[in-house]
Amino acid sequence: MPERKIYLLSPKKYSPETIAVAFAKTSRSPQSFQEIADELNDEASAEFHEKWVVGYGHASVAEHAVLHIAIENVSRMAIESIESNRLASYTEKSTRYQKWDTNAFVIPPELDAHPLREIYEQTVRMLFETYTASLAPARAIIKERYPRKEGESEALWDRRIRSKYVDSCRFLLPAASLANVGVTANARVLESAIRKMLTHPLAEVREIGRKVKLVAQGETPTLVKYAEAVPYIQAFTQYAIRNTQGARGKGQEDFTQLIDFDVDAENKILAAALYRFGEMSYQDAFAHIQQLLPEKRTELAEKLLGGMDKYDIPLRELEYSHYTFDLIMDQGAYFEFKRHRMMSQTPQALTANLGYAVPKLISEAGFEDRYIAAMDAAAAAYQQLAAFNPDVAGYLVPNGFNRRVLATFNLREAYHFVQLRAARNAHFSIRRVAREIYGAIEKHHPLLAQYMRLPEGETWQDHFASF
Ligand SMILES: Cc1cc2nc3c(=O)[nH]c(=O)nc-3n(C[C@H](O)[C@H](O)[C@H](O)COP(=O)(O)OP(=O)(O)OC[C@H]3O[C@@H](n4cnc5c(N)ncnc54)[C@H](O)[C@@H]3O)c2cc1C
Repeated sequence: MPERKIYLLSPKKYSPETIAVAFAKTSRSPQSFQEIADELNDEASAEFHEKWVVGYGHASVAEHAVLHIAIENVSRMAIESIESNRLASYTEKSTRYQKWDTNAFVIPPELDAHPLREIYEQTVRMLFETYTASLAPARAIIKERYPRKEGESEALWDRRIRSKYVDSCRFLLPAASLANVGVTANARVLESAIRKMLTHPLAEVREIGRKVKLVAQGETPTLVKYAEAVPYIQAFTQYAIRNTQGARGKGQEDFTQLIDFDVDAENKILAAALYRFGEMSYQDAFAHIQQLLPEKRTELAEKLLGGMDKYDIPLRELEYSHYTFDLIMDQGAYFEFKRHRMMSQTPQALTANLGYAVPKLISEAGFEDRYIAAMDAAAAAYQQLAAFNPDVAGYLVPNGFNRRVLATFNLREAYHFVQLRAARNAHFSIRRVAREIYGAIEKHHPLLAQYMRLPEGETWQDHFASF
């Protein structure tokens, strides 16, 4: 028997496009990967990709070319588009652990030499000044609650308690705030990401798309070469906007609405779990589950989910289920929610039309009047800009404003999301969302939801004066 070999085709030795070709060629060639890679050069790799990936549409080959792209000083608005790709990885500057400089914001090119530029700039500066001014009084209260430990330096103390006050002050930061994001993506997903960016209504995002394309072409000259804007998305966007204008609806009182789910999901999941380890048809497995006595169903659920350790992930069979939620959450929470790539998510545009949350710490710090004045002024400026360009107006909207998002996910993703985001160290805004999603699922599917691990004594309500 030939020797088993496992080794790295190192990016230190081969370019990403060459690695992709070396893997692709194993489909037809009896040679080892190493031999194939050693025979290749950049031109031969480019030729291969032109023929197979671009010409014949064998796009999955491009997944073997992986790039790490550093993106600095882009608005949080733009980050939404950058991070909207399910199969890429991201890490961004945190609003919980860092503070923002007062000049760290974007002025959108759409406002160049425009009369509204002044009101835009004034509003963003006012929000940054209010954010900065809120830090000291909020910190003073937290310092009282979490006194300095013996021997702890001022800097270490601040690091330990920072998120406890910054979590509330961040509600004032507008979407114009600049941030950095590191992106790891393969050339296939990157091509799709570039196409989306080039199609985006905001000039900043289109500009980022052009730069990402340029940078990626330095490493993978062939694989992203043909990424262009997508006319059909542009056309549909225009059509949909025309046909929904003014259609705001009646609004919803409940911030977390479970609008669709599979009533039979528990039986389907249990049936699939048996199917996996048996030899029966799915129909037989389902019929078997349906006639099980309640104590036997409970036993099966316990065996399926009760034995999981902290880092265990439930079996894939939990994916035979779906829950669709119409959610309203503040923009800060949405920024974290959107990172759950496995879900299908449809956010509506960021506006100042759904009201805003007031963190209790802001009120306790005697800062509520100033906070409300700043948020109301931002909302008024938003309306002025929205009459010119609603997408550009979104830059002005602070994190505390509410946003609507439609999301569909299965029970496996619900386990992951709820457990991660209801954890004690999660921000109180996203803890609310996680708890309410859990409550809605548990109401209908208690047998399988009961094993989600949520900490005792949830306190998210204590952090809001209103929301
Ligand atoms: C305490 C805390 C602090 C955080 N701080 C920051 C921060 O400072 N900056 C920041 O940018 N983000 C931060 N995050 C967000 C975090 O990095 C995740 O991106 C986010 O929570 C989404 O979760 P996820 O990636 O596990 O899961 P999802 O995207 O919801 O995916 C679900 C699961 O699918 C699997 N999966 C999905 N994609 C991949 C992949 N590409 N490779 C392998 N497995 C995959 C994983 O098992 C994952 O758990 C923080 C999160 C927490 C909980």
